[in-house]
Amino acid sequence: MEGYEVQFLQEAQALQGELETWRRELHRHPELGFDLTFTKAFVKARLEEMGYEPVECGKAGLTVTAGKPAKRTLLIRGDMDALPIQEEADVPYRSENPGKMHACGHDMHTAMMLGAAKLLKQHEGELAGQVKLMYQPAEEIMAGSQDMIEAGVLEGVDAALMLHVMTGTPIPRGCIMIPEGGTGSASSDFFTITVKGKGGHGAMPQLSIDPITAAAHIHLALQAIHARELTPGDFLVITPGIFQAGKAANVIPDTAMMQGTIRTGDVAMVDFAKKRITEIAEATAKAFRAEATVEFSGSCPPMIADYDMSAAARTYLTELLPRNVLPPLTGNGNKIGGGSEDFAFVSVRVPTIGLFLSTGGTGDGCQYPQHHPKAVFDDSVLHLGAAAYSYFAIRWLADQNK
Ligand SMILES: [Zn+2]
Ligand SMILES: [Zn+2]
Repeated sequence: MEGYEVQFLQEAQALQGELETWRRELHRHPELGFDLTFTKAFVKARLEEMGYEPVECGKAGLTVTAGKPAKRTLLIRGDMDALPIQEEADVPYRSENPGKMHACGHDMHTAMMLGAAKLLKQHEGELAGQVKLMYQPAEEIMAGSQDMIEAGVLEGVDAALMLHVMTGTPIPRGCIMIPEGGTGSASSDFFTITVKGKGGHGAMPQLSIDPITAAAHIHLALQAIHARELTPGDFLVITPGIFQAGKAANVIPDTAMMQGTIRTGDVAMVDFAKKRITEIAEATAKAFRAEATVEFSGSCPPMIADYDMSAAARTYLTELLPRNVLPPLTGNGNKIGGGSEDFAFVSVRVPTIGLFLSTGGTGDGCQYPQHHPKAVFDDSVLHLGAAAYSYFAIRWLADQNK
């Protein structure tokens, strides 16, 4: 196999110049959420030049497939949206769209996925199955992957791979991190509790129903979910970050309102927390003659790394890039952390692995982290990302067919 891997990497390296040109063009024209007019047209045109027939998926997504339907289909994903940030990075390809910037590196992902498309086209005859390439909008607003799932992107898909770049961390340029199996990032859900009482004069409480008293007891009772109902060591955070009621010191208001967030690493725990928040709020309000309604919004599940996919990624990428793959993280601290990732919606449906590729660490002069107006992503690593996506796909399909 050794000669094959070396040759594969050389093919990816040969695309480097083109990938840089594409990435810089995308970087100059960042777009937000589902409004990806330029980006989508650009991606579509490049894919058509390669001989693909891109298919629209959801509000602003695109898919193409390489290979032919067989035993297994692998999905690979690149997100395409930018952030509402005014770019301050000193780069010649700085954003030309005021107030918008590719500060999370999704322009890098898009370019790498175009490189992967090209490599997969060159190796299409070798594919022992099908690769579906998912070009996703609206990751930053946690809506794009769900929108594409609703539009059917996962139909026939058996497993999924994503990649995210990193910058401004201690990890040197070109290094690849492969998470071990298990929960990678916490889920995120929001709740709103509205307590309805009966307003009146502050001096005559007997004529009112005080929603503030009821809401205060609800707030305290919510803390007991973690303290008294879970196994010690279970990960669940319930934080009410907004508590609002009243406008005058001598008036009992009609309502009180609380909003907060739920974070955990387990889908079942989210359901449990929602059920108990609702029960406690309703029953506690009732105890104080008030009425509580509970609403939930903005749900994003935890990102789950599949054990087999993690092991497969370690095997294949170590073959291809032995000097780049970092050893597994050891230690038994809490692994769950970081921001939420909307590919989590995919990861709770099909076995998924998400890779991380450093595009420059603090030791390489990249001082600013992602989402910072001065963040810089070194695009000399683009061919590594393109090779990782496509080589994983070829190897995984081959192994599944054994
Ligand atoms: Zn981001
Ligand atoms: Zn991102």
